[in-house]
Amino acid sequence: MTPDEHRTMRESLGDYAIGRLPDGEAAAVRAHLDGCAACRAELAKVSSVLPALGGVDPKHLDRTPVPPADLGERIVAAARAERRPAPRRRLPTSVAAAAAAVAIVVGGVAGYAVGDYDGIPREPVAVQASAPEIRASAVAIPHTWGMEIVLDADGFRPGATYRVVVEATDGREVDAGAFIGTGAAPMVCNLNSSVLRPDASGFKVLDTAGSTVLRGDLTPA
Ligand SMILES: [Zn+2]
Repeated sequence: MTPDEHRTMRESLGDYAIGRLPDGEAAAVRAHLDGCAACRAELAKVSSVLPALGGVDPKHLDRTPVPPADLGERIVAAARAERRPAPRRRLPTSVAAAAAAVAIVVGGVAGYAVGDYDGIPREPVAVQASAPEIRASAVAIPHTWGMEIVLDADGFRPGATYRVVVEATDGREVDAGAFIGTGAAPMVCNLNSSVLRPDASGFKVLDTAGSTVLRGDLTPA
């Protein structure tokens, strides 16, 4: 892959994370993610920012350009003004992420965390939190390149960074990305790991000290 192709791939991740890519392009992105740990990490970062944009101080969104304060209003106004479907335009990642966060706020993507995703059924995962303030549910989505976990939660310490690892049946713990806690504000995180669903036995959410604050158990597939 040339640096140019790689950059194009990066630009698609925002749309990919919010499910806006047409099937063909989404398949190409998935195929690339399969072989590229850097882009998987980037996708995890993009995904973790989606919910954070809704409720976290922009100062915590390191290295992510902060969208203008009135962007949400402008997007909603533009959406109201323009009822007919427009050709899909590739947005910079941060704008696509902000648009997704706004859509969640206005209820435009109700059902974002439930049902099928690309026609792949979601498997509920039993989760257990170590602290009473953390309320969470999770689903696992088996992909050809690995397993995605969609974590729907609140109660994680606002602004704190959490790391997620998938536990493999052979004892490995494989990085699945990170997210920023949003306190009482609900968040939805898409976490991706290269562990295939049949090889996964669970996942853990770790705080910065490395302590497990949430675990999910995956029964053998
Ligand atoms: Zn890549």
